[in-house]
Amino acid sequence: MLNLVLFGPPGAGKGTQADFLIEKFKLIHLSTGDLLRSQIAAKTEMGIEAKSYMDRGFLAPDWIVISMIKSILQENVNANGYIFDGFPRTVEQAWALDVLLEEMGTPVSGMLCLIVDKDELIKRILLRGITSGRPDDQDVSIIENRIHIYNEKTLPLTNYYSAQNKYFKIDGMGSVEEIAHRLIDTVSKL
Ligand code: ADP
Repeated sequence: MLNLVLFGPPGAGKGTQADFLIEKFKLIHLSTGDLLRSQIAAKTEMGIEAKSYMDRGFLAPDWIVISMIKSILQENVNANGYIFDGFPRTVEQAWALDVLLEEMGTPVSGMLCLIVDKDELIKRILLRGITSGRPDDQDVSIIENRIHIYNEKTLPLTNYYSAQNKYFKIDGMGSVEEIAHRLIDTVSKL
């Protein structure tokens, strides 16, 4: 199985790039942001709880995110592989992912980190906010909080994966196609 962690700050283009990787390597897409937004739309208990964090630019509680991932992995044991988009975002989530994958007898193949300048991130998110309608995409202070939380809670995961020789840095500036090409090139060598 090919299990990719697509990593990078909010607005780095993870969702856009995930589409190219899914198509090329026939993977199942697991975006915790999308899964959480479906829970919110369905007004489930998990969705209602997560929304209060997400709207302010904080991370949803680990237990919610981990239980969503767990049920999808259990439903698709025969998949070709997965692309984890926006997950893990904390060290606790990374540990949980390792345990879940170990139970399936397959490890994380690689972690691909998109590197994008902060000014460009804010520009991209505000632009996306016009069409996404997401409350967390429309306010600069909330966007800055998301970037701050990324630097504080999520970025340390680069050390976790780099200690296992699974960390790959990808330049996330340039055209969508150029970036997709860089990603596909790196994944092809895994
Ligand atoms: P972006 O990458 O632009 O932040 P996402 O859709 O991945 O967009 O995430 C939106 C929000 O959903 C995050 O700010 C956070 O509140 C919540 N979220 C998504 N994934 C996770 C996760 N793995 N752990 C905790 N919260 C998450």
